[in-house]
Amino acid sequence: MAQPEREHVSGRPVLAVDIGGTKMAAGVLAADGTTAVDRRLPTPPGVGADAETLWSVLVGLVRDVLDAAGRPRLAGVGVGCGGPMTWPAGAVSPVNIPGWRGFPLRARLAAEFPGLPVRVHNDAVCLALAEHWRGAARGHSHALGMVVSTGVGGGLVLGGRVVDGATGNAGHIGHIVVDPAGPICPCGNRGCLEIVASGPAVARWAAGQGWRPPPGTAGSARDVAAAALAGDPLAAAAFGRAGRMLGQGIAMAVTLVDVSVVTIGGGLAQAGDLLFGPLHTSYAQFARFRYARAARVVPAALGASGGLVGAAALILAGDRYWNAD
Ligand SMILES: [Zn+2]
Repeated sequence: MAQPEREHVSGRPVLAVDIGGTKMAAGVLAADGTTAVDRRLPTPPGVGADAETLWSVLVGLVRDVLDAAGRPRLAGVGVGCGGPMTWPAGAVSPVNIPGWRGFPLRARLAAEFPGLPVRVHNDAVCLALAEHWRGAARGHSHALGMVVSTGVGGGLVLGGRVVDGATGNAGHIGHIVVDPAGPICPCGNRGCLEIVASGPAVARWAAGQGWRPPPGTAGSARDVAAAALAGDPLAAAAFGRAGRMLGQGIAMAVTLVDVSVVTIGGGLAQAGDLLFGPLHTSYAQFARFRYARAARVVPAALGASGGLVGAAALILAGDRYWNAD
């Protein structure tokens, strides 16, 4: 059953920000979640990008997008950022942005926008919220939203509301173990979903099995997908393995939390049946109960705009998606 929609009533637009290791995006989104203006920039990489350099790039991007939108009166500022972070305080230490360690992102933005609500959540949670609010999980009260790209992340909506957990970290499905004998994950475990089923994991496994990228390509997961579609059995096997691991992990999660839909976005999901075929087969094998078998595992609907839509939803549908001060 769909939850009754209780949308933000002011009708004012929202400034949405999506910060990841490779890009920063900002947009002004109308109260219905449609994008009025958006802009994106590469995130200044690695060494040399100290905390204040990163901040000034972000502030410039935000000013640019607000100018382009005609400096509207805003309802608030919603932000999705790579984790980990302290939540709800929003001091961020994104794994892929070494210049920010304990950076007080929420507090700094609040100082830029006095009097407005500023809310910061994990970027994978924002993607899950976007799919629930305006994407492939719309109308479902219970949903798991996942992203499978450079990493594997997720967010949970149960009873129509986001599940934050005790520390804002609920939904970290990328670090459940699906292969205890598998490769070591940066988190310290062996065989986490992220280290066996992310884009880089697919490319690494294929290379480890002797697959050689066609001349002129980098051997990324996208190249592996192209080779698989062209009939390369080793490349197809790399996606088969990732799909099976995802199906196993998702079946375990759905057995625990009893959602009716699981959405999968991110670059690897673009591989379509190469990934979803073995994923669905494995899911059916590991989901032992009727309620879990009934859940649908589907591609996300929103694509690259999902991060901004989910960040905006923290403000625009805030009483469902934001449970903190
Ligand atoms: Zn891990």
